[in-house]
Amino acid sequence: MSTITRASCLALDRADELAGFRARFALPEDRIYLDGNSLGAMPRVASELAQDVVARQWGDGLVGSWNEAGWWQLPKRLGDKLAGLVGADPGEVLVTDATGINLFKAVAAALSLRPERRVVVMEGSNFPTDNYVVQGLLETLGRDYEIRFTEEEGLDAAIDDDVAVVCLTQVHYRSGRLLDMRAVTAAAHAAGALTVWDLSHSTGAVVVDLNACEADFAVGCTYKYLNGGPGSPGYLFAARRHQAGSGVPLRGWWGHEAPFDFVRDFRPAAGVARFATGTQPIVSLALAEPGIDLALEMTPTQLRRKSLSLTSLFIELVEGRCDGLGLELVTPRAPARRGSQVALRHPQAYAVMQALIEKGVVGDFRAPDILRFGFAAPYNSHLEVWDAVDRLQSLLRSEDWRAARYARRNPVT
Ligand SMILES: *Cc1c(COP(=O)(O)O)cnc(C)c1O
Repeated sequence: MSTITRASCLALDRADELAGFRARFALPEDRIYLDGNSLGAMPRVASELAQDVVARQWGDGLVGSWNEAGWWQLPKRLGDKLAGLVGADPGEVLVTDATGINLFKAVAAALSLRPERRVVVMEGSNFPTDNYVVQGLLETLGRDYEIRFTEEEGLDAAIDDDVAVVCLTQVHYRSGRLLDMRAVTAAAHAAGALTVWDLSHSTGAVVVDLNACEADFAVGCTYKYLNGGPGSPGYLFAARRHQAGSGVPLRGWWGHEAPFDFVRDFRPAAGVARFATGTQPIVSLALAEPGIDLALEMTPTQLRRKSLSLTSLFIELVEGRCDGLGLELVTPRAPARRGSQVALRHPQAYAVMQALIEKGVVGDFRAPDILRFGFAAPYNSHLEVWDAVDRLQSLLRSEDWRAARYARRNPVT
C-alpha cells in the first residue's frame, strides 16, 4: 500500500524550487492540464507580446519592421537562445519552418555527407511525419535509397556500414521512452554513419547535450514543452563541423549568401543560415520567444528533477490506486529511460480520455489504445498529479466512460 497522500503531495509542492514559474503561465483554473507535450501552455507575457507584434510592429512599423523590429534576424537570434537549451553553440541552431520540413533538410544534408551509402535507419513506430518525410525524400533521390525500419531492440543490429544516417526520435511520442543519445550516436559513428535526432519531446523536458554527445543534426518543436504557441516554428541544429560541407537540397533566398543581391544561382550562406528557406511566419516565430526565455531561466537539471518527480509520482499513484482497473503502464519504469510523459494502455482509451477531459483532466489519446499524460515541470504540480489520478480512479471505478457520447471521435484526438 502506497504511503503517498494528498498532504504529502502538497509538501512536495512546497519544496518545489520551480513552483514560482506556474504563475507566469495562463492556465485555466478549472482544469488540470497534462497535455503540454502536445501544446504547451501560454506564457502570460505572450499575450502582451502578441499585441506589440501585431499592432505596433506590423500595424505601425509595416515593412520597416523587417529592420527595426529585427524580424529578419529572428530565426538566428532565437536559434542562438535555443542552443543554450540543447547543449549546442550559438551559430548551430535556427528556429524556422515546421519540424517535418527541418527533418527533410537535416536528413538530406546528412545524406549529402555520406554519398556512398544508401540506408537510413528509423523506427517504424516513430511519429508518422518523420517516416513520411524521409520516405518522400528518398523517393525523390531515387536510385537505391532505402529506409531500414527497426525498433529500439533491433537498433544495434540495424546499424552497419551500409548506413548513411540514423534518424531517431529521442523520446518516443507514444510510449515516452528515452533513448541514450550518447550511446546511439557513438554506435552510429563507429559504423561510419551520421545521426539526425528528433527532439520534439525532449527540448524543455529532459537534459539534452547535443555537442557533448557529438550529435550531427537535430530537429525539434517549440510548441510542445517550449510553450511557443500553436504551430510555432520548429528548429534545426547542424553541428558546426558539418555546416560548410553539407548539401542544401531545399533552397530558398533566406539561405543565400547574399539574399538581397537577388542573383540567379544559389550560393549557400555561411553557417547554419544555409538551411533557412523563405519568409517566416513572423507573428508565430516572435511568440515563440517567451517560452524559450522561460526555459532558459531554469537549469536543465532542475527541469529534469521536477519532471521525474512528477512522472514517478504519477506512476506510483496509478499503480497504487488504479490496480485492477484495466490500465497497463507502457512507459519505461526506470527514470533514466523515460521522458516527461506517461502512457497507459486501456482497451477503451479513447472513451476513457474523453470522459476524463470532461472531468477536468486534460491528457490525450494516441491510437490504438494509449492514454497519454504529459508533465510540464514549469507549471504542473504534485497536487495536480494527485487530483488527476484521483479522478482517473473514480472514473474507471464508475465506468462513466461507457456513455455513448464519449465514443464519438473528434478530428483531433
Ligand atoms: C510533434 C512531432 C512532430 C511535429 O512535426 P510538425 O512538422 O510540427 O507537424 C514531428 N516529429 C515528432 C517526433 C513529433 O513528436
